[in-house]
This record gives sequence, structure tokens and C-alpha cells, in this order.
Amino acid sequence: MAENIYDEIEIEDMTYDPTLQIYHYPCPCGDRFEIAIADLRDGEEIAVCPSCSLMIRVVFEVDNLPKEEDEAMAIAPAAEAQMPIAA
Ligand SMILES: [Zn+2]
Repeated sequence: MAENIYDEIEIEDMTYDPTLQIYHYPCPCGDRFEIAIADLRDGEEIAVCPSCSLMIRVVFEVDNLPKEEDEAMAIAPAAEAQMPIAA
């Protein structure tokens, strides 16, 4: 089952790159694990480090992923308790 799974990482602990539309996380080899948000939406949960082929399992909920049209705002802090008031 666990092939080369190095660790399980909460998606909140990963960094989202809105330009490349990938989540990444530092790999012990000095490179980083990467997974595209599109892959996460497809149910893919394994991020791979291209340098050492180590893998992590990303712990996430598809429903919590930024919506496609909202990706530009994905870097904004979650503000669920601060919904903008529509006048
Ligand atoms: Zn690596």
C-alpha cells in the first residue's frame, strides 16, 4: 500500500502557488513535493518530489479547495467569520 509515502501532510501546512496552481511542501532532500490543484480536484492525493521521488499523502477535503474562479483569492487568509456585508 504505502509505496514511498514519506509522510501525511495537512493541506493547510502546504504552500499554494497561485501562479503555477500547485501546492508544495519542503522535501528533506532540499527540493519540494508538488501537486497540482487540478489533481487534488480529481481526487489525487499523492504529491511527489521530482528530485528524489519521495511522496507525501495530502490530507484535504475537496470541498475546502479554492474554487476555480476564486483561485486568485486563494492566498487571502480564510475569513469565514468575517463575511463581507452586502449593503
Ligand atoms: Zn526530494
